[in-house]
Amino acid sequence: MKIVVCVKQVPDTAEVKIDPVTNNLVREGVPGIMNTYDEAAVMMALQLKEQTNGTISVLSMGPGQAGEELKNAMRRGADAGYLLCDRKLGGADTLATGYALAETIRQIGYDLVLCGNEAIDGCTGQVGPLIGEFLKVPALTYITDIKVEQEDLFCYRDTGKCVETYQVKGPAVVCISDKRLADKPYESRENIPEIHMLDAAHLEEEKIGRQGSPTRVAAISVKGKEQNYLKVDYRWDCETRIEYIMNGGLEKKKKNLNRETKTSQARLIMDAIMKK
Ligand code: FAD
Repeated sequence: MKIVVCVKQVPDTAEVKIDPVTNNLVREGVPGIMNTYDEAAVMMALQLKEQTNGTISVLSMGPGQAGEELKNAMRRGADAGYLLCDRKLGGADTLATGYALAETIRQIGYDLVLCGNEAIDGCTGQVGPLIGEFLKVPALTYITDIKVEQEDLFCYRDTGKCVETYQVKGPAVVCISDKRLADKPYESRENIPEIHMLDAAHLEEEKIGRQGSPTRVAAISVKGKEQNYLKVDYRWDCETRIEYIMNGGLEKKKKNLNRETKTSQARLIMDAIMKK
């Protein structure tokens, strides 16, 4: 099975800054990490690779630094990395992003495309379904597990109240929503292949970048301190916050926290203690 996983680099910060003129996220100078749902998709791909004797290609559209996330995925066991990187792609909205990724996936070749259910910065959850639309294949969202039986994919969607099972014939796009898969241990490989650098030559110019993007962001604002995940009062001093957490403060939010990966649990707790 030829699996392509779409991997987006997202800013490693809880402090989102917005450009007041363009209303876009400011990404310059902010270190990047792999989108958590995409980490989960890579780990799912590794399971399927083992089951089906398949191959994994990872694909990212972004600046040169996004190559770090492709290397990260290849160290985990992906076989090839493709970075779609061209100035002409700048200013792309979800439609132009979906088109560019879909056409590139078509060139790479695929039986199954895995995406994260959403990116933790943009959070629209539109890119996976758009890729399905451009490739004219079924797209499934909020999927927590996949099993392969001969030609068929069995995709499971755990809603918390029940588990829905979808049977689909590949090729298909499947968007993974169980972030906890990102915590699966893996053996890191030292020797990884070179990244394939791609420009936009295979894409229609009027469908990419600003030109291909009908969306305009009318207004955007950052939610302030009320976005308090652990219900810590930021007027408290550090010692009081630690005392609150140690005395059961975390317990009250355990259900929310348990939906996060270990890394983001640690980050949320540190945020609750350190945030000014
Ligand atoms: P979602 O749809 O939530 O992502 C779902 C999944 O799709 C991800 O988990 C991942 O698997 C896959 N995916 C998404 N994006 C990528 C990617 N780039 N590479 C690989 N896989 C991916 N962003 C910029 O970086 N630069 C810009 O100049 C820019 N200009 C914009 C202008 C406008 C008008 C708008 C509306 C948005 C702009 N954006 C820009 C944001 C950009 O369009 C989105 O980040 C992108 O379309 C993905 O949307 P999302 O973050 O909601 O991803």
